[in-house]
Amino acid sequence: LRKQIQHTDKMNTLSELAASFAHEIRNPMTVARGFMQFLKQPGTSEEKRQIYTQMVLDEIDKAQSIISNYLVFAKPHLESIELVDAKLLIQQALNSLKSYAVRCQVDLEIHLDDKLFISTNKDKFVQCITQLCKNGIEAMPAGGKLKVIGCIQANQVSINIIDHGIGMTNEEIRRLGTPFYSTRDRGTGLGMMITYKAIQTMKGKIDVTSEVGKGTCFSLLIPSLSSSSFH
Ligand code: ADP
Repeated sequence: LRKQIQHTDKMNTLSELAASFAHEIRNPMTVARGFMQFLKQPGTSEEKRQIYTQMVLDEIDKAQSIISNYLVFAKPHLESIELVDAKLLIQQALNSLKSYAVRCQVDLEIHLDDKLFISTNKDKFVQCITQLCKNGIEAMPAGGKLKVIGCIQANQVSINIIDHGIGMTNEEIRRLGTPFYSTRDRGTGLGMMITYKAIQTMKGKIDVTSEVGKGTCFSLLIPSLSSSSFH
């Protein structure tokens, strides 16, 4: 099964994105340049040299993650669509996050029904689930439990990703998915934008319920396909 993403839609999004991308990439470059100038000055102490060098490295890393996130979004090969079992892809995403979760003292609690058939691009879907789970883990700086529940609900694949973390205000929820909106030091604010767009291309819906200090639930509903569609 193959589907063509509408070209015009994509071009519009990309040109909007390109403008803010240019702007965002300039910030870390400017900061890094400033620190490089400090470094160039004679008589800078070794201690300051170390601090400035680390700052430059951090800013370069930030620019790099903006670029690689952007490339994932723009890559044309991601348009190939297949019939897949979302259960396997969710497991794949969670496996890749396992060691990160352990480091953050977050337990993963997973309930996935069988045969969660959807039509999607595999890489994009795995990226969405990884992003939402990573955000959930990062919302719990003192550790906790992240629940991932997948089941069939009225001909749709329902996926809930629930954390008991810092939560969001209504204003923060409203800004989710806007390019470069991030409250994190090392955040790029591209993750949720990519996730929202990808779920849209799957003809799916994504809902957020969140309460400050209590936690957040991301609910995905994606049209499901019967296994008979498999050949
Ligand atoms: P980044 O992770 O680079 O900051 P995202 O687009 O993934 O970018 O997220 C944007 C912002 O949305 C985050 O900086 C954070 O403030 C907020 N956010 C996303 N997921 C959650 C969550 N599960 N709990 C609390 N805040 C969240």
